[in-house]
Amino acid sequence: MRVPPRQGGALAYARIPAPAAVQCAWCERPFDRADERLAGRVRCARCGVATTSPWPSDEQLSAAYADWYRPQSGRFSGLGDKVLRRTRAALADRLHRIVPPGPVLDVGAGDGTLVEAFVRHGRAATGLERHASGPHIRDVEVEEVDGDWSAVVFWHSLEHLRQPARALSHAAALLSPGGTLVIAVPNAASLQARVFGDRWLALDLPRHLVHLTPQALLSALGSLGLRVERVSYLRGGQVVFGWLHGLVGQLPGHPDLYDAIRREQARQDDQHPARRLYALAAAVAVLPVALAATAVEVAARSGGTIYIEARREPAGERARTVTSR
Ligand SMILES: [Zn+2]
Repeated sequence: MRVPPRQGGALAYARIPAPAAVQCAWCERPFDRADERLAGRVRCARCGVATTSPWPSDEQLSAAYADWYRPQSGRFSGLGDKVLRRTRAALADRLHRIVPPGPVLDVGAGDGTLVEAFVRHGRAATGLERHASGPHIRDVEVEEVDGDWSAVVFWHSLEHLRQPARALSHAAALLSPGGTLVIAVPNAASLQARVFGDRWLALDLPRHLVHLTPQALLSALGSLGLRVERVSYLRGGQVVFGWLHGLVGQLPGHPDLYDAIRREQARQDDQHPARRLYALAAAVAVLPVALAATAVEVAARSGGTIYIEARREPAGERARTVTSR
């Protein structure tokens, strides 16, 4: 059940033997001739969200998440993991300031870095992660969680779920009054997604099962009765890196920057040291271009990731919002 290497992009994934997706993973509309067939995914004619196709089996997904994806020793070489920890701590600091007192739920908690950052603030926090365990980590789906939560966070996890809209709707129902839903996902409508097409880093087939747009997300949050308080096209991270990886991948031999920066155990393919050096040197050379492109796409509100904070309003305020529409 081997899954093709990522650097082959969507074209390589599209060739795996598995049944095509039959419906939109976001709005659940059955696919027909109106939907747009792309390499490795189908874009829904109704909601504009693309669904990974072929739709991977559980076995294919497990193979795609095999040890190299997130080994115990950390994913990236020293500096990368440090940056990752610092950005999670900054997110926890911010959310701790803006959400009401009470516990926080992190859906797709990974190694628990964000959860631990909340715990350091003295706040109760629980992370959900498949096949993981720990003092604050539970191996369950968000739909199996109940209670009242001050914040529910989907940090680059919604796109990994088979039924993301249902997960979001359940998460919204878990929010206490004034509680906040926090989402970061790749932006499939971004400039970098359009420029790099089938080779865009954040397609990440088949681990990403849906390819969301700001429009689809904002409209779903509105219909769940949440008030969107912040949208950022930079805060979700990985924006500069998306450009760097894409630009380096255009060079002869399609060097894979993402693989080059991972620790040895976390790499998908054995990269020859010279090839790794080539990818890293190329990244340094194209960095000014990547920074300029990032500035352009963020200013155009079409950055490579979408970050959203949406609040469940206290009862009185909710009534006022409804009447003002
Ligand atoms: Zn749809």
